[in-house]
Amino acid sequence: MLRNDQLELWDRENFFHPSTHLAEFARGDAPQRVITGGSGVFIEDRDGTRLLDAFAGLYCVNVGYGRPEIAEAIAAQAKELAYYHAYVGHGTEASITLAKMILDRAPAGMSKVYFGLGGSDANETNVKLVWYYNNILGRPEKKKIISRWRGYHGSGLMTGSLTGLELFHKKFDLPLAQVIHTEAPYYFRRPDTAMSEADFTAYCVAELEALIASEGDETIAAFIGEPVLGTGGIVPPPEGYWAAIQEVLAKHDILLIADEVVTGFGRLGSMFGSEHYGLRPDIITIAKGLTSAYAPLSGSIVGDKVWQVLEQGTDELGPIGHGWTYSAHPIGAAAGVANLKLIDELGLVGNAGTVGAYLTAALRDRLAEHPKVGEIRGEGMLAAVEFVADRESRQFFDASEKIGAKVAAALLAEGVIGRAMPQGDILGFAPPLCLSEAEADQIADATAAAVKASL
Ligand code: PLP
Repeated sequence: MLRNDQLELWDRENFFHPSTHLAEFARGDAPQRVITGGSGVFIEDRDGTRLLDAFAGLYCVNVGYGRPEIAEAIAAQAKELAYYHAYVGHGTEASITLAKMILDRAPAGMSKVYFGLGGSDANETNVKLVWYYNNILGRPEKKKIISRWRGYHGSGLMTGSLTGLELFHKKFDLPLAQVIHTEAPYYFRRPDTAMSEADFTAYCVAELEALIASEGDETIAAFIGEPVLGTGGIVPPPEGYWAAIQEVLAKHDILLIADEVVTGFGRLGSMFGSEHYGLRPDIITIAKGLTSAYAPLSGSIVGDKVWQVLEQGTDELGPIGHGWTYSAHPIGAAAGVANLKLIDELGLVGNAGTVGAYLTAALRDRLAEHPKVGEIRGEGMLAAVEFVADRESRQFFDASEKIGAKVAAALLAEGVIGRAMPQGDILGFAPPLCLSEAEADQIADATAAAVKASL
């Protein structure tokens, strides 16, 4: 094994880390941690430090670390057949079985699964499918995609454009012109504190209607949204939001893409977030929880309405010109099959609902009265604590104070990983779905200690 200082040097000299302050990292001023192992909700680094990972990696290790069932399925697949492509009708037992398992669990009206590698490429696929759909239907001008400010849909050219967070646009010349953004359903930051949740939903709907009117619905193809805003701050929607938004979309013949990369496969205490909020999407994006990140795999679940048109298109044009070398990679598919079985066997969807609610309640119990805590919110196994400079006036901290990052660092010192969300002073939690109540208490106690130490 390499000495730590040697590995750290190689890391700084050679490795371009994503979402990292490159200059600070090069100077040795940014955190550097080499992870060596994991079990359940805990990970361990090379120095032997054990940390409770209350963000499940990047909300993806849903079944927890160190599951031999998935590791063995991956090894068996690699030995039997590490790779074959899925082009022109090819498949493997794993990929065909997984497509069936996904559709058995998906909301009504879904027809087929297209497999990709990660959430970004799946959303890239979704936009292409929506464009193809409208071209086949003879309405080539119906192409714009509406996304929400604070939405997160990936960091490619199109998906980085769909993402409604400044950090992902700045100096990358994004968003692209085909993407337009509407109001985030973020009740805590409503424009007027006198608004009820229902008033705020009506406000979001009016904003959407105004955007559609100004652009012309004949130019708008789809609306993309996460059932619960994730990277934008872990924000459950206000009362009545999805029902009202869907009414507007139906009226204007705008497709709905539900980005369930975070919420798919149990995180909200329901198999899908669509089910949880009564969404009837035309396409669903899945990734992360599909394999619990034991291998990279994503998918676009295509609904009947879009599927019929895609079939019609290939009758007119020939094979669909869209595919990745690694679509439906057998190792990812084998991981997915083992992972979905494990989620059922361990009852993790139910556990996400009950222990998730327990976690949010435990955070409230420890922190609700703190003068710098503006809101504690959660849905299923997602929770967030938002900090404010002043509770009464809801005055936010100046971004330069980096309060969220400070609290996350203090939390790490307590042995727990939470995530300072990229925009606003928000500490996010998305633990593995197998979290126990005792572990939830550990997160809440550590958070209370971290807040006390840093604010
Ligand atoms: N969509 C959502 C809702 C996400 O949270 C993410 C990643 O966090 C993505 C898409 C992008 O997925 P990936 O990072 O696998 O490309």
